[in-house]
Amino acid sequence: MSRIVIENGMILSLDEAGTYHESGTVVVENDRIVEIKGAGHAYEKRPGDEVIDATDKIVMPGLIDLHYHTAIGKGFNDHMPLWEYLDECWYPLIRALDPEAAYWAALASYTESVKSGATTVNDMYRQLNSLAQAAEDIGIRAVLSNDVASPEHDLDSLQDNYDAYQANHGKANGRIEVRIGIEWLPLASPGLLREARAMANDLKTGIHVHLNESKTEVDFCLEKFGKRPTELAYETGLLGPDTIAAHCVWLSDREIEMMAETGTPISHNPNSNAKLGNGIARVPEMIAAGINVGLGHDAVECNNSADMFEVMKYASLLQRASRVDASLMQAKDVLRMATNNGAKALGHETGQLSVGRKADIILVETNSAIFTPLLRDTPVHMTSHLVFASNGSVVDTSIIDGNIVMRGRKLTRVDEGQIVREANAAFRRIKDKMVVKRSQAA
Ligand SMILES: [Zn+2]
Repeated sequence: MSRIVIENGMILSLDEAGTYHESGTVVVENDRIVEIKGAGHAYEKRPGDEVIDATDKIVMPGLIDLHYHTAIGKGFNDHMPLWEYLDECWYPLIRALDPEAAYWAALASYTESVKSGATTVNDMYRQLNSLAQAAEDIGIRAVLSNDVASPEHDLDSLQDNYDAYQANHGKANGRIEVRIGIEWLPLASPGLLREARAMANDLKTGIHVHLNESKTEVDFCLEKFGKRPTELAYETGLLGPDTIAAHCVWLSDREIEMMAETGTPISHNPNSNAKLGNGIARVPEMIAAGINVGLGHDAVECNNSADMFEVMKYASLLQRASRVDASLMQAKDVLRMATNNGAKALGHETGQLSVGRKADIILVETNSAIFTPLLRDTPVHMTSHLVFASNGSVVDTSIIDGNIVMRGRKLTRVDEGQIVREANAAFRRIKDKMVVKRSQAA
């Protein structure tokens, strides 16, 4: 039995009661949190315990990146609107992808994520066997899904997704899961959406889909199907508590009702939406309707950072700026979107520090100008720094599923230098292989 004892830390549990200990101890046994104690409460130290001194560090749940794509070509063709970008960059790259390139691209992506505090990624991409291997190797919690589209688009099929599920779901102590992924509705048919739902139900797994990301997508669906994207998803049974709907920037009032009625959680990805010129999602209306909204970075090809601290800040600032209202999206609520809400959306026992929950924990260094001044007895002050002042470099240690995957900002299970070299070589090779075919969907 392996135990980790994290002592002397500021414990920001983000549980329902908002429990905070200015100085305390968290004990992890195997993959679970077994004890959380404030100062003065003794715990039994045992021989063989791995002790982490968390003096000056915040001990908090890891961040959950609810909409994610492994990325291979960050910063390449960086100026295009979504439609053009997909045709000229994203699809050609992922069509040229091979298993080895996918493995190194995933490791590079997961490296950036772990180093900026994410402990879970909800990753829609291709070559899932490679992604699962990368997740297993680095130690991150990964929910994987394919880029499924109708056959003429030369992406993945439901059979690919089924095979990936059979090969990988439940691997690594359940740390790796596989869902059914639908790329987006312009590349699908109503029949494909119904089959995707049936397959998800058969496998007792969830769905991951892009919905209402851009105005172009809505216009295209109206033209092709006579319906808006979320209307079609609703009618074909795609929505539900087990479906993560990504983006949802262009939702009508009726579509917001459909999301609420079906209990569909939404991943809000403000940085990607801003960079691609897609607009600002109606998050206050979603929350008012009772929808569970989490946060995602999307992909570094359209962000260009996987840093969830940046995503939290954008999520708040864009709403405040566009609605001229500084009371919107307060730090304490945004932090829960990136932790509690993401975990709930995925049905995971993570996203908060509570006894019995899975041990996905990060330690944040506060002995720096970024966290100065800090009222250690005032958690709301700490929360403000986490959302508005920080960036991913404040994360010192990451524990995922009870394993220390980063300590002192050094990854413990993989060689970061090798990952950087191999991911660079993979991009060069795939870029030289890619073929740009214009406007398959338009
Ligand atoms: Zn996406």
